[in-house]
Amino acid sequence: MARTVLITGSSSGIGRATAEVFARAGWNVAATSRRGELTFPRMAGKVVTPRLDVTDEQTIGGAVEQVVAQFGAIDVLVNNAGYGLNGPLEGIAPEQLEHQFHTNVFGLAAVTRLVLPVLRERGGTIVNVSSIGGRLAFPFGCAYHATKFAVEGLSESLRFELLPFGIQVKLVEPGGTRTDFLSRSQQWASHPAYEGPLRRFQEMARQLDDRLPGPEGVAKVIYRAATDGSSRLRYP
Ligand code: NDP
Repeated sequence: MARTVLITGSSSGIGRATAEVFARAGWNVAATSRRGELTFPRMAGKVVTPRLDVTDEQTIGGAVEQVVAQFGAIDVLVNNAGYGLNGPLEGIAPEQLEHQFHTNVFGLAAVTRLVLPVLRERGGTIVNVSSIGGRLAFPFGCAYHATKFAVEGLSESLRFELLPFGIQVKLVEPGGTRTDFLSRSQQWASHPAYEGPLRRFQEMARQLDDRLPGPEGVAKVIYRAATDGSSRLRYP
């Protein structure tokens, strides 16, 4: 029987490419997104596209219910949805910082919490898309880095917590990848004191973006993480 994956943030970039890799491999795919109703080409697996906003628990619950009704189970959850808020800390309003955490951290936690009862039924895998920025920090990224470092901590702990249930937690930490990510980092906060260095940093980021690989490689790594046999971890 085909296995089922639920992916958040499937409207573009890494999420969309990941949905395509799973579907080509014959999986049932719930390619969720904020607007829902995405279109995908015909592939070996069945693709459904429920609406799921990671900051809105009702849409998460609704999407999980719909996927279980349709496919009977969820075997893999890919927590991919996220965005980058960049700029100097002094230029970032508290509500911008809160929104960054609401999406990248609290959203990931909310989706995980609502999918776990289903995953617990027969074990499975959670793949959390963090970032190289969850391990290393660059200037003007304190908000984004803080969220990805939080995703790393959450995942490392959850990995042990879920071992008794046969649920694995994997972290994928992409480096720079050419997606809508940088152009969506519309949230470039600014502050007059940092104008020169910030402009130079933005210019460097733009030049780098042109040379980055597309999302297909990261999507394959996510697929491998999700299907790579059992963990050698033992409960501490
Ligand atoms: P994209 O901007 O192309 O994709 C981000 C996805 O997240 C979109 O589908 C977007 O949906 C979705 N999203 C944003 N907010 C929400 C929300 N509240 N609820 C549901 N979905 C939401 O960027 P990437 O594909 O590059 O990013 C995917 C992940 O990869 C992110 O977690 C990012 O941090 C991480 N990453 C990216 C890197 C890169 O260089 N590109 C490097 C390292 C990590 P919508 O269309 O509705 O806005």
